[in-house]
Formats: sequence, structure tokens, C-alpha cells
Amino acid sequence: MQIAERTVASFHYTLTNDAGTVIDSSSGTDPLTYLHGVGNIVPGLEKAMEGRAAGDKFDVKVSPEEGYGTPNEMLIQVVPREAFQGVDDIEVGMQFQAQTPQGAISVSVAKIEDGMVTVDGNHPLAGQNLNFAIEVVDVRAASEEEVTHGHVHGAGGHNH
Ligand code: ZN
Repeated sequence: MQIAERTVASFHYTLTNDAGTVIDSSSGTDPLTYLHGVGNIVPGLEKAMEGRAAGDKFDVKVSPEEGYGTPNEMLIQVVPREAFQGVDDIEVGMQFQAQTPQGAISVSVAKIEDGMVTVDGNHPLAGQNLNFAIEVVDVRAASEEEVTHGHVHGAGGHNH
């Protein structure tokens, strides 16, 4: 069976940046299982998965536009150290929930200088090419219920 709309695919992946650093990998864990065609994985990877079958191995380079987006300057803010009440040690890379008019977003500390803290609400991989090495493990038909819910049930998915 080939990956297409209304199929559920399982795959192993290794994700590296352009410097060759491994950012994420399913190695040593269960494969990632997703419902194809509904945006459950980044668009560039979903496109590359189309038509593949179990056993296929391939590499794909996904641009930021088809990955986690390009950095948005609006999501970068500089706030005084005093804004972090109750946090003793602030370090670069720490993550916080920030309240915005659009709801809570996850931000990370990008820089600390002169008592001012730069926080960045962009996805950590925004602006980066995503280099995936993929191995398709399994492809099956999605159930009606999975298609209705827009996600996978059972192994690797929701249990409800
Ligand atoms: Zn469901």
C-alpha cells in the first residue's frame, strides 16, 4: 500500500540541520505514526511521503517555508529581568509560557544582557532547513473514525 490520503503511515526519521547536527531522531524508540494528508507533520515532509511504501528509505530537504516557518520579528521581545518574578536563574535556552493577546505561546530565552532578557516566541527550528532521513515502516488504511477525528488511534496515536 502507498501513502496517500486516508492512510496511516509509520516511519523512522533522523532530523539534522545544515551543519549536520542531529536535532531529533526516532532511533531507539517507536516509529512516528501519523494520518496522512491533514497536516499532522510539516508540509514539506508530508509532500515527500506521498506515494511511498513500507521499506522505502529516502532523504528529503525541507525549506523553512515548508517546515517550521521563517522567523517573525514580532515574536521577539526584550523585557526587563524583573519581569521574571519567582525565577532565580535565567539562562539562555530556558523556555517559558508567555501570555499574549492571541493566547499563551511558548517562548525561549535568546539573550541576557544588561538586565534585559530577549525572549523569542518563534519555533526553535524556524528559518532552518530540515534534513530528514526517512525509513517508512508501515502503511495501512485509516479507519473512518481516524479520518473524522483527523488523527491516529491506537499504537502511536490517541487512545480515547
Ligand atoms: Zn480520535
